[in-house]
This record gives sequence, C-alpha cells and structure tokens, in this order.
Amino acid sequence: MASSGVDLLLVSVGSDLPYLTGYQAMPLERLTMLIVPSEGEATLVIPRLEAPRVHEHPDVFSLRPWNETDDPIAIVASLVGRPRVAAVGDTMWARFLVDLLGHWSSDQTQYVRGTVVMNELRMRKDAAEIAALQAAGAAADRVATQLQGGEIELVGRSEAAVSADISARLLAEGHDVVNFAIVAAGANAASPHHHASEQVIADGDLVLCDFGGTMAGYCSDITRCVSLGEPQPPVAEAYAVLYAAQAAGVAAGVIGAECQDVDRAARRVITDAGFGEYFIHRTGHGIGMEAHEDPYMVEGNSLPIAAGHAFSVEPGIYVPGAWGMRLEDIVVATDGGPLPMNSVNHDLVVLG
Ligand code: ZN
Ligand code: ZN
Ligand code: ZN
Repeated sequence: MASSGVDLLLVSVGSDLPYLTGYQAMPLERLTMLIVPSEGEATLVIPRLEAPRVHEHPDVFSLRPWNETDDPIAIVASLVGRPRVAAVGDTMWARFLVDLLGHWSSDQTQYVRGTVVMNELRMRKDAAEIAALQAAGAAADRVATQLQGGEIELVGRSEAAVSADISARLLAEGHDVVNFAIVAAGANAASPHHHASEQVIADGDLVLCDFGGTMAGYCSDITRCVSLGEPQPPVAEAYAVLYAAQAAGVAAGVIGAECQDVDRAARRVITDAGFGEYFIHRTGHGIGMEAHEDPYMVEGNSLPIAAGHAFSVEPGIYVPGAWGMRLEDIVVATDGGPLPMNSVNHDLVVLG
C-alpha cells in the first residue's frame, strides 16, 4: 500500500476478502467490509448475525459487528480518518461505494481500484496455492478422463443433461462448487461460451466440454473435445492445428516472457494454418480463487510472466454454422518451466 500511495484498502464481497481473512462473506445487501489502513490495525465491519461465522484472528484483524438499525457505511467512515487515496475492491457493490462517496467525496479522496494493492499478491501463487490448483486440476482431469473414456453418455442426451452430469461428477471428485459446465455439440460449439441447451447430441457431432469448479478455495478449468464417430477431414485437420497451437502457447509461458507472448505463440500456429479469423478470443486468463483473474494472456499485455503466475492456455477455432473446438489446460509458471495443472489426453478422442 505504501509503495502505491494508498492510505486505505476497502474490501467487500468477492475473493479478496477470503484471500486476506479466510472468511467468505455471503454476497448480501448487508455490508461486510474489511478496512485495511496503511498504518495500524485492520477491522472487519460485519452484520452482527454473520459474525459467528468468522474465524477471528485478533493479531490480524478485529471485528466490528453492526446492528440491523445501524448505518454501516457511517461506521466505516467513523473508524478511520478520511483517506487521501482509497483502494476499493473490484467486486464491491456500487451501492456501497455510492454511499461511501457521501462521506468521502471524490473531490477530497482519490478512489483507485483495489487491484493496485491486491494484484501482485493475488497473481503470484505460493506453494500452498499451487498445491490447491493442482488438486482442483487433478479432480477436473478425472472428469475429463471419464468423458474421454465414454463413461459419460452423450448420444441421445441433451447438452443440458450432459452438463448436469459433468457438474455432478465435478462435485463427486471433490469440488465444493461447480462454476460452469459448457457442453456444446455440433454448430453450437462455434459460440465459445454456449449455454448448454435442450439440443440432443447426435452421432457425428463434435462435442466441446469446458468445465470447472472451486475446490478448497481454488478453481479448475479445462476444455476437451470428443468426436462421436470419425471426424470429417477438415475437422481432423483443424484439430491438429489446435493441438499444436495449444502446445506452443504452453511452451511460451515461461518466466520473463510477456503475457502476450503466450497469445502470440498460440495464435501464430492457427493463423499460419489459415484459421486465424476463427480464433476470436484471447488465449488465456489467470486463475486462482477466481476462475478468471489477472494476468490475462492477450495481445497488448506486456506484463512479464513471473514465478507463481497461474493461467489458462485455451486457443479455439470456431466456424460459425459448422463446428467449434477449444483445448484448454491450466499451467503455472515455475523456475522449471510451465507446470501443467492438467495432463489428461490432449487428442481429439473418438467415441462410438
Ligand atoms: Zn471461457
Ligand atoms: Zn474453460
Ligand atoms: Zn478458461
């Protein structure tokens, strides 16, 4: 905070709070706010009825419960002097910031994003965080293995039914929460974030499955495609390109390279093969307590990759009206090179 000139960090709902305190607040209209001054003690302002759920760390922060008839923002403002520069957590609700502006106007207080303080901490995963990502990745891998092994019935079921099946398996393999389970068959897969529909999966479909959840606070995220029957030659050819592009992206994820180098490495392979116009998104996103967080593997991001950066490498090729494919792993940059959190078969597995 001192090096970025921030007097006060204010964190509300979202993952910064459990990152700093171990307490995950329900996203409620009742204010929960951690107040971290650059000097002095941190205070967690919390609805009285939620306080019993907090595991107290008196050496780290103290609790200031508020009653139903109190004005919690007034309590926040009374606990600390008006800051010169306040960093506000990204996912704080606008209503709280608007109320805060009534106490500390933007004429007198400069508001900056909480990421100014939190990003360096959040991006560099320590050994325990990497272990948590590995455990979540291994659990997702087990579900992907079930998919590739034909254990998850596809033909004759709707995308939505398969999505529910994958979700149940993520939980059975140890996830606490399922964050998403995209199942997209045939032409639906040309929409990268297709919402699993009632469309029934048929023989001959290429089926894209992109799923992940949160396990012990850390996220998994993996994409694999399976082909129901031998793929048509153009699909098989495109998949070979995708496979090479994904491997090139992973290989580029070394300490000291720029985030955009990962995107460039994967994109070059796809562009050189003539599919460039069909790769319509960035190559990857950071991952940790959130499924998408900094750093982003995108053209224009010159941030150097550092030890502990965890991110996805997920190029895709999407041909509207025809088919779509994506291949995704999570990797962590280490001194020994990119460490994959997913290792399940990268081939286009043919089922049926
Ligand atoms: Zn996505
Ligand atoms: Zn994904
Ligand atoms: Zn992803």
